[in-house]
Amino acid sequence: MEKISRRSFVNKFGIGVSASVIATSIPSFLSAAEPEHIPYNGKKINLALCGLGIYANIVAESMQGSEYCNLAGIVTGTPSKAIKWKEKYNIPDKNIYNYENFDEIIKNKDIDMVYVILPNSMHKDFVIRSAKAGKHVITEKPMAIDVKECEEMIKACNDNKVQLALGYRLHYEPTHLEIKRLGQEKVFGQVRYIESLGYKTYDTIAKKPVDINSPANWRLNKKLSGGGPLMDLGIYCIQVSRYILGEEPISVTAQFGTINDKNRFSETEESISWQMVFPSGAMANGNTSCGYNIDRTYASADYGSFELSPGLSYGPYEGKTSKGPLKFPPIKQQQKQLDEISKVLLANKKLPDHITGEEGLKDIKIINAIYKAAETGKKIIL
Ligand code: NDP
Repeated sequence: MEKISRRSFVNKFGIGVSASVIATSIPSFLSAAEPEHIPYNGKKINLALCGLGIYANIVAESMQGSEYCNLAGIVTGTPSKAIKWKEKYNIPDKNIYNYENFDEIIKNKDIDMVYVILPNSMHKDFVIRSAKAGKHVITEKPMAIDVKECEEMIKACNDNKVQLALGYRLHYEPTHLEIKRLGQEKVFGQVRYIESLGYKTYDTIAKKPVDINSPANWRLNKKLSGGGPLMDLGIYCIQVSRYILGEEPISVTAQFGTINDKNRFSETEESISWQMVFPSGAMANGNTSCGYNIDRTYASADYGSFELSPGLSYGPYEGKTSKGPLKFPPIKQQQKQLDEISKVLLANKKLPDHITGEEGLKDIKIINAIYKAAETGKKIIL
């Protein structure tokens, strides 16, 4: 990885024009001398990806070159994918499972962790089955359909002494770490208002929006998805508001948007807006939709503001603060996420709270409250 000194960072990304601007714009971690990178050659966490759809393909590509995590196995219901992945990623037959024989993974000492990348309603079963097989688990967002499912998943992992992580890729992304720092360290004073808007789901392999016209697409099926764009993309807007402020919302109000295509959105919302109030008095407005493309986060604080646009998709992100541009070199987000999670597991330590099942549960509680607020027209107290 390219080593970036404070000077080259400022030159390359044009941050700030004066010392005071630099003081508020330069991320704190760049002010210390960077340690030399020592290549790691020890044991890696052997990972099995469960559900080989669009996002699993992105994860598999991104994790190539990972120092701490190895793609060792797959779980798929599609035999043709098993053949393709086996060849592409050199996966031995003994590490290939389908949804029926998956529990046999308990006997496979070569798999340390399972990454569940299935439709939302399937997360619970496969997290619990992984935990019972003695495997650590990462599950994709949203953690599950409802609070009860999340609690069962956390309990199963605790009971079986394995760790449960959420696939929150932005928790390790430098631009997001920086807006979290700007908000939580009150670099521009107390943040008073946040606006976060989530985009249409994008298929980066086909390089086009995900075809939710397809009747087969599980995102339109409430039983499989648990809800529409709020479950899929709105969760990022909720997350970003929570980590900019470092607070949990105390109440929500919400409104469903217009349904322009009644055939496609007969079970789930097409768009939704919501408002969250936080203990400091800060307000966060969110909106997410399958009908229009928006990808933006804006925070207004007492002495300035900061924003990203785009800011929630896969990047690269464009940002600015009221003192100048805000931009970091793009990283392989999924590789970084898997490396950081694997490092903790290899050291036999506990995962940090922000990436665990408890964090996923907090988001599901808020999502449930937003749906309740939109359905009833009432303010919901959290
Ligand atoms: P896809 O529809 O592309 O893939 C889902 C895969 O799950 C399928 O390809 C299939 O794999 C398997 N599957 C098993 N049963 C079913 C079923 N009944 N219907 C459909 N698929 C089934 O979805 P995505 O990859 O886009 O999303 C999967 C998960 O990842 C979701 O929870 C989503 O929210 C999350 N996600 C997270 C992202 C992030 O940025 N963190 C980005 C995109 C998605 P197989 O053929 O191998 O059995």
